[in-house]
Amino acid sequence: ISNKAVPHISVLASPGMGHVIPLWEFAKHLVTHHGFKVSFLNITTEASEAQNQLVHSSNLPRNLHVIDLPQVDLSGIVNDKTSIVAQLSVNVRESLRCLKSILVEIGNPQALVIDLFCTQAFDVCKELSIPTYSFFTASTHLLAFSLYLPKLDRDVEGEFVDLPEPVQVPGCSPIRTEDLLDQVRDRKSEEYRWYLYHLSRINMADGILLNTWHDLESDTIRGIREDPFYKEVHTPPLYPVGPLIKEIDPLNETAVQCLTWLDKQPSDSVLFVALGSGGTLTTEQITELAWGLELSKQRFVWVVRTPSDASSTGTFFNVGGDVNDPKTYLPEGFIERTREVGLLIPSWAPQMEVLKHRSTGAFLSHCGWNSTLESLAHGVPIIAWPLYAEQRMNATTLAHDQFGVAVKPVAEPGKKVIGRKETERVVRLVIEGEKGRL
Ligand code: UDP
Repeated sequence: ISNKAVPHISVLASPGMGHVIPLWEFAKHLVTHHGFKVSFLNITTEASEAQNQLVHSSNLPRNLHVIDLPQVDLSGIVNDKTSIVAQLSVNVRESLRCLKSILVEIGNPQALVIDLFCTQAFDVCKELSIPTYSFFTASTHLLAFSLYLPKLDRDVEGEFVDLPEPVQVPGCSPIRTEDLLDQVRDRKSEEYRWYLYHLSRINMADGILLNTWHDLESDTIRGIREDPFYKEVHTPPLYPVGPLIKEIDPLNETAVQCLTWLDKQPSDSVLFVALGSGGTLTTEQITELAWGLELSKQRFVWVVRTPSDASSTGTFFNVGGDVNDPKTYLPEGFIERTREVGLLIPSWAPQMEVLKHRSTGAFLSHCGWNSTLESLAHGVPIIAWPLYAEQRMNATTLAHDQFGVAVKPVAEPGKKVIGRKETERVVRLVIEGEKGRL
């Protein structure tokens, strides 16, 4: 076929590996499985080490082209205190100032697929008459809540977290107020305003692509398609196209070391501990987790990061860059005492390869949506350890009977951290006891 007959699509992800990874996989799929040409618009400002490695790898399929958007200066607009969603949104807004000229330069692609935090692109695409699709990187349940958010915002006075009852999302199961995502817990925050801004614009899309599959979230997908509320707010058609998850991880030195270690362990014996791209624990929590792992006497691979008492998303903008020395923050003697059973990987591990490995028996996860899909795809039971964003919602769903693939450790009443005894209990449960029902 002549090149003219090859459909040309552009894909735009907002920064953050939890967004870049699924949109990148989507772009690769269009090229390798459907014969498309894809221009991947890469936001380079504040791009992490892991993002650069992913999109600038040397063996890209033909017809997948990475277009680096020029760096922008965010100093004076964002600072250390700016929340993640505000920081992402401002970065995207500034980076997209050149979007029109880039789309024209690459010959007006036939469609643009954008991530949730890139809704500024709708206006440019309208001007250029380019159809635009939104790619939702989280669960359909969160999408349903988010489509309902503009109405909640109009109807409810005060904070949603103070509502006496769970939030009744039209056509879907209710959401407990304690599970509401961080972005809507403080309606006076900048982060809330940005989230509401993007979600109020999602109905400008020609369709919403979901990183899920029908059977996984059939009730919720049906709920959005059939409940009159979603028609009233002009919800675009839904297309469940997932799971779009990494097929492989780059085999760098850390990956080889990790897989060689796993090769030597018995089947289903290792707990993989990893808290997404951004997750960090407090000093007290990391100490309790370390003790819990040690007391459980189970094997583990642990992606360790410098603890942060200020934020649970300590490495979100520095993925793979937090080169740290676990000796400085893990309990004294822990490394020596667990040498035979544990492998510590500072900062970033080849998660997909670990989850695929026959020795991996369970996953202590923060329940980000990509990690959830990767775990489900490989039948690995989960210890649900939610930290930020919508992870509490995901954790509740995964531990719920309908999914039944996760166990949720609980903190003692009045305590903020999950104690070592509780950690020991759940680790033993998933590795030695009933291993989930997948
Ligand atoms: N990831 C990885 N190695 C790590 C930590 C995370 O490869 O050490 C990948 C993981 O496989 C997943 C993504 O980073 O694809 C994290 O996405 P998720 O939605 O789970 O969480 P987020 O980072 O958005 O909180």
